[in-house]
Amino acid sequence: MMGRVCIIGVGLIGGSLARALHRAGIVDEVVGVGRDAANLKQALALGVIDRSCLDPAKGVQGADLVVLAVPVGAMHDVLARIAPALGAHTIVTDVGSTKGSVVAAARQVFGTLPARFVPGHPIAGAERSGVAASFADLFDTRRVILTPIDGETDPVALAQVRDMWLACGATVSEMAVSHHDTVLAETSHLPHLLAYTLVDTLARMDDSAEIFTYAAGGFRDFTRIASSDPQMWQDICLANREALLRVLERYQGELKGLAEAIRDGDAVDLRRRFSRAKQARDNFCGDTDSQGESQCNESPRNKPRHGESPE
Ligand code: NAP
Repeated sequence: MMGRVCIIGVGLIGGSLARALHRAGIVDEVVGVGRDAANLKQALALGVIDRSCLDPAKGVQGADLVVLAVPVGAMHDVLARIAPALGAHTIVTDVGSTKGSVVAAARQVFGTLPARFVPGHPIAGAERSGVAASFADLFDTRRVILTPIDGETDPVALAQVRDMWLACGATVSEMAVSHHDTVLAETSHLPHLLAYTLVDTLARMDDSAEIFTYAAGGFRDFTRIASSDPQMWQDICLANREALLRVLERYQGELKGLAEAIRDGDAVDLRRRFSRAKQARDNFCGDTDSQGESQCNESPRNKPRHGESPE
């Protein structure tokens, strides 16, 4: 049992975690903290949280575990507000999509990284936001990455955060902070930027109305994640700048090569590129698309459970 858990930011991820904790029956009370009284009222009415609080410092009082579930650009401010009010034994974790920026924010606020701060990131999500979009089985069979810092993170706190996610149905892995940010830049952040850019490019063309009229399933599949929250993705881009710029540069090189192959009428090159990609995707996700259970962040049920997509 975890006693009292305080979740700051009762949106899609914070709300889903609250629901999953209730479903698991491992908490006495979930306190939800936010800036918007109407959102917290809705969370109470939906039974997502047991108590609400508009003041983060008051909300964390008496909590055994505090979960930061706000956009990554807001982590520093929230940490600064709760720092003086945290109990000596309170464990703090987060669900932010980038880890380097959150760890840096914690170091800045506390001077050194608190031993009981366990950085984390559930690789599960959706293009929808807010508590109304939250659901208890969001994390079922999904991965959660924890990024403890060698020699700094308390192993007992780490074990408790791991146990919380296991109880919520997730599988848990550990990774170094910078490795997390590189891997997620490649697998989650880049695809979101590509989807946003494709839709934005087409939307600004003169014949955009006609383009969207004829957009079929492939277009919808590819661009679903462009409906994600722009604020969240603005924060992620700024927080994971270096890793994103590296992978964007690499991708731009590949696009240039593709354009050259098309210009030169190089059928062999085109076929080689597409065959390599098909084989790679079929190996990693192809046979699981219809069943769920996938490295590619698809849902195990019919309703799409989107990756930030993940992630
Ligand atoms: P969300 O549905 O928009 O919820 C975020 C909550 O944070 C809101 O309910 C809001 O509540 C609060 N908030 C927003 N801006 C804030 C600010 N400037 N200061 C303090 N509180 C603020 O977003 P989400 O999708 O749950 O994302 C939350 C975190 O999870 C982010 O760090 C994101 O990177 C991470 N994440 C998201 C996904 C995904 O697919 N969506 C997946 C994995 C991880 P109030 O308005 O009441 O304050």
